[in-house]
Amino acid sequence: MKPLTQLAHESIAKILKPGHIAIDLTAGNGQDALFLARCVGPTGHVYAFDIQPAAIQATQERLNQQTRRSDFTLVNGSHANWIEAIQAEHRIRIKAAMMNLGYLPGGDKSIVTQARSTLAAIQIALDWLQPGGVISILAYRGHPGGQTEANAVETMLNELDPKAFEIIREPATAAGQNPVLNLVYIKDRS
Ligand code: SAM
Repeated sequence: MKPLTQLAHESIAKILKPGHIAIDLTAGNGQDALFLARCVGPTGHVYAFDIQPAAIQATQERLNQQTRRSDFTLVNGSHANWIEAIQAEHRIRIKAAMMNLGYLPGGDKSIVTQARSTLAAIQIALDWLQPGGVISILAYRGHPGGQTEANAVETMLNELDPKAFEIIREPATAAGQNPVLNLVYIKDRS
């Protein structure tokens, strides 16, 4: 099976096009933000959030080298109320949001995403993403708190109205502490 990070990128790439707005809710080392920036191009815009200054710096360096500086906005803060950081004219063009949960690779493993703010961020994405859009949530279950957070995400997604959202889980039955990718597709609400 291909890596779930690759599967997330491939799934989003089918939807995210030049001119769209994309949100990386956990910037980390900036690999997902760079992928999103390449999808939306210079006519689109990427916002990336992280609570750790080191993550924002790493993301900034990566994007500065490989994109135009005007194509992205980095926010050193929590994703818990992320819509407040999005420009008004961008809020109605958001087509993809990514969450790669857990800790910063190569960083302090005790600083991890928390179920409470993760669910808050997902709820905002559910409320704001455009029809046809996608939210990808990659949950790791091997670190302290990871399983609890993954369960909380799964419970939340299971309660969504299937008329409004389609949920794809990869792998469909993940064993033990293996990571799980949740893809939430926003159906047309008209
Ligand atoms: N997407 C990243 C990449 O491409 O490299 C990897 C993300 S890493 C697995 C998870 C990140 O979530 C960490 O950098 C951590 O600091 C960040 N994080 C934890 N809690 C957060 C919060 N409440 N808001 C935003 N970021 C958070």
